[in-house]
This record gives sequence, structure tokens and C-alpha cells, in this order.
Amino acid sequence: MTHYETVRSVIAGKAQLCVVTKKRTKAEIMAYYDRGERMFGENHAQELLDKVDLPADIRWQFIGHLQTNKVRQIVPYVDCVQSLDSLALAKELDKQSRRLNKVMKCLAEFHLAEEDANKTGLARADAFPFLDACKAYPNIEVCGIMVMGPHTADTAKIAAVFRGAHQLYLELQKHYGAAQIRILSMGMSADYPIAVAEGANLVRIGTYLFEEGE
Ligand SMILES: *Cc1c(COP(=O)(O)O)cnc(C)c1O
Repeated sequence: MTHYETVRSVIAGKAQLCVVTKKRTKAEIMAYYDRGERMFGENHAQELLDKVDLPADIRWQFIGHLQTNKVRQIVPYVDCVQSLDSLALAKELDKQSRRLNKVMKCLAEFHLAEEDANKTGLARADAFPFLDACKAYPNIEVCGIMVMGPHTADTAKIAAVFRGAHQLYLELQKHYGAAQIRILSMGMSADYPIAVAEGANLVRIGTYLFEEGE
């Protein structure tokens, strides 16, 4: 099996795949496009802008820390900003999306791993106040959450973080409704099988797909 076939079989019937294409060439991206993939993820505004001449039915996911001064340029091309981590960003996304008559899908990014203290993302305690505050911005729609697993080889620790994320996801669904809160984005090359086992319905995978191993 190729790595792609492995990923597709692990997530089958459970999760959507976002192919993370940072630092990949257009030809590498098109190889996945030709296999039927349409959801691709980038984490730098400029690198995304360099790739937006690829087919228009690509649903670009923005997955990196987004500076407010880059929002205006990328909003026309992005399907979902998975890394919404501040109200200042929500406000700017709302403003720039309104100019285009667009409602930008967003995922609130949470930082739930205890290690990796300098990582971006909202704290769990901010969840309800943050989502309530986002209601003031009608041109964004918060449709779920994005979480990164901790950098550790300890699979029990990784599973515990993802379990906490799923718990938070369920609490948000209960409060805001499952029609609104419908995406739980977690799992990367190193930990996506754990994430899917813990309830992820969207995984973001780069390295494993582009680097076929021995
Ligand atoms: C790079 C990146 C990924 C993919 O990581 P891989 O280890 O290459 O699969 C997923 N999510 C985010 C936010 C990333 O920056």
C-alpha cells in the first residue's frame, strides 16, 4: 500500500482529508488533485497566494497563525480558516469577508496540550466566551475546532489530549447545536490514527503523504 492508500483506509467513513501542501510544489499538489483530493492546507499567506492559480475547485484551508494584515489578501481564496485564535482576527476576517459578500468558515484553534507552552491557540476556559463573542461577526461562521496533539512519542498522552478535544467538541455541539459545530480537525502525520480513534472528522496530513517511506 502507498502511504496515501494507508491514510485513505484508516480514515474511511470517519474523517475528511486535508492534504497539507506547505513547501510542496504545484506539481506535487496536482498529483493529489488528480487522485481526487480537493482540500489542501497551507500555513503561510504568501505561500498560499503563490498557489492560487491552481484549479479553482480546490478548497484551501488556512492552518497557520494568521496575521490580521494578511487577511485581506487571502480571504478571496480560502474556504476555511482553521486557525482562528483571537477576536482581533475574527473581527478582521468578518470585515474582509463582508467586502466580498462571503461568509468565511472558521475553526477555533485550541491549545490543549500541557507541554509546548508557547504554541498558539485558545485556552479551553475561553471556549464559550470566545464563541459567544464571535456571534457579533456575521460574516464568519465558527463551524468547529482545530487542535494539535502534543509533541511526544507517548501515545497515551496524545490520546488524552485528543480525547479532551473531542469532549470540548461535544460540549460546544450541545450548546451551539450540531448543525453549527460540525468539524473536529485533529491529527497529523505522526498521530492521525490516534486522532481518528478519538473522534476526529478532519485530519491534516503532509509529510506522510509526500514522503513515501522504505
Ligand atoms: C504542517 C502542519 C500539518 C501537517 O503536518 P505533517 O506532520 O507534515 O503531517 C498539520 N497541521 C498544521 C497546523 C500544520 O502546520
